[in-house]
Amino acid sequence: MSKPFPSDLEIAQAAPMQPITEIAASTGISEERLEPYGKYVAKVLLDETTTAENALKKGSKYIVVTAVTPTPLGEGKTATSVSLAQGMAHIGKKATLTLREPALGPVFGVKGGASGGGYSQIVPMEKLNLHLTGDFHAITSAHNLLSAMIDNHLHHGNKLNIDVRNISWRRVMDMNDRSLRNIIVGLGERMDGVPRETGFDITPASEVMVIVSLASSFTDLRERLARIVIGYTMDGGPITAQNLRADGAMAALLQDAFNPNLLQTLEHTPALIHAGPFGNIATGNSSVVADYVGLEHSDYVITEAGFGADMGAERFFNVKCRTSGLKPNAAVLVVTVRSLKSHSGLYKIVPGKPLPERMLQESPADVKAGAANLVKHIEIVRSFGVQPVVAINAFPSDFDSEHEAIRMIAEEAGARVAIHRGVAEGGAGVTELAEAVVAACDDVSDLVYTYEDSDSLSTKIEKVAKRVYGADGIEVAPAAAQQLAKFEELGFGHLPVVIAKTHLSISSDASLKGAPTGWTLPVREVRLAAGAGYVYAICGTMRTMPGLGASPSAERIGFDEDGQLVGLF
Ligand code: ADP
Ligand code: MG
Repeated sequence: MSKPFPSDLEIAQAAPMQPITEIAASTGISEERLEPYGKYVAKVLLDETTTAENALKKGSKYIVVTAVTPTPLGEGKTATSVSLAQGMAHIGKKATLTLREPALGPVFGVKGGASGGGYSQIVPMEKLNLHLTGDFHAITSAHNLLSAMIDNHLHHGNKLNIDVRNISWRRVMDMNDRSLRNIIVGLGERMDGVPRETGFDITPASEVMVIVSLASSFTDLRERLARIVIGYTMDGGPITAQNLRADGAMAALLQDAFNPNLLQTLEHTPALIHAGPFGNIATGNSSVVADYVGLEHSDYVITEAGFGADMGAERFFNVKCRTSGLKPNAAVLVVTVRSLKSHSGLYKIVPGKPLPERMLQESPADVKAGAANLVKHIEIVRSFGVQPVVAINAFPSDFDSEHEAIRMIAEEAGARVAIHRGVAEGGAGVTELAEAVVAACDDVSDLVYTYEDSDSLSTKIEKVAKRVYGADGIEVAPAAAQQLAKFEELGFGHLPVVIAKTHLSISSDASLKGAPTGWTLPVREVRLAAGAGYVYAICGTMRTMPGLGASPSAERIGFDEDGQLVGLF
């Protein structure tokens, strides 16, 4: 897809920013609560007033941005979130954004920013995409401290009787490095540790990352760290971080990282950037505490949930909102011409390759041929008791007739719909969407969960499969059934579930486009994230450590003759 000229990085570098102290002041965040990291980034310090109760007091509106089933290129949820926040100011509303922090690995892997696009971006974008305030470093360190303490415990005699072949806690780093997926530690001399097989995941896949995102207070964070289950004893009992006495030091490493980061959009809208859990095996949502801070200080809080409404938004409703006690007032459902064209089944998009020629030609008929996916996602959002606003994210290559086709599909399904041109025009191009979202927030919405805490774990998985995905049922492999029974027996049956499946289809088969029916969800394996507070079901092949492509974007990032940073999208 051709991008509007100039590049995102050039637009971001040319943008005049306001000092972060001014952004904070305009939001009503007091100076005592602000800890600047340079001129344009600050930490917002949490205190005892950062609670769900205070977040709810003001009656601010809470909006989640989700999408149809995306193409591998992404359909612009982040771009739309930033656009909408900027658009709100143009209709006289006070909005705050709450978004995930991008991981380093994908920055060097695939081209595609996590800071929005064009004239709807978060700045300073170089800082956002490269380290920011070091939260991911702190999370990586806390995670690996526990890993080191496990191996140290084994080395010093294994008093807890840990089954060396049944340790699920791995190591993490924030880099796409496939050669670390499976490793053997403890090789060498007698004093070099106990040999065993383990591996690395990328930091966004760390349970510590999810704990930072879901914890509602620092006390809650410490308790969640203590509850992490790292593996089992020879008798099958769970071993926790608390058993290894690691939780206190892990919390100490996370003190600063637990405070949200304040940045701004190109139009000076406040943006709280905090935590970045993976969308496939983790929750794929930014932090609860940043949402608390946003709701306390703003009339509208706009947050993004990763992937399509079947993935990130389902977890937003069933896991994040259940944990935080917050209820959304509206959901923005992002759709693009290219996504509906791809759901027609007539094209194949390959990342890194140009889009198929036919896809760039005017064809409202091809857009309509992919309608089932949008209609299904509208139904999914409604199943949670929330009204969707369909946001058509306009690309330079689109035709008006194609936008009209999407508008008709949405209207026929009875949903509000608006086109936005935030990437090309900034907030001025988003007023129609902003008005529609404000109107949707005035509708009655009452969050409905897909399942009850008291349902068994397999019932929870089955309810999500049938009620959200539209599957006929689930097929639990014998090993997964054993794991489910064990988690119930150990007292984890009340936890919510996260279903790790492909994001490229509503089904578990990435090649099925539209709204697949007549299929069964295969549950291959089930894992426990006792600290984060959920059980996750692996339904397909899940990568927890990505690799780099044949021509990673790292090859193009660097500095030009004038010393300007280039290549960062
Ligand atoms: P998501 O958050 O849904 O994964 P992003 O907002 O990150 O998607 O957008 C994916 C990519 O597409 C980014 O590179 C972004 O800059 C680009 N993009 C998004 N919307 C537009 C648009 N309207 N015009 C051009 N490029 C866009
Ligand atoms: Mg995004």
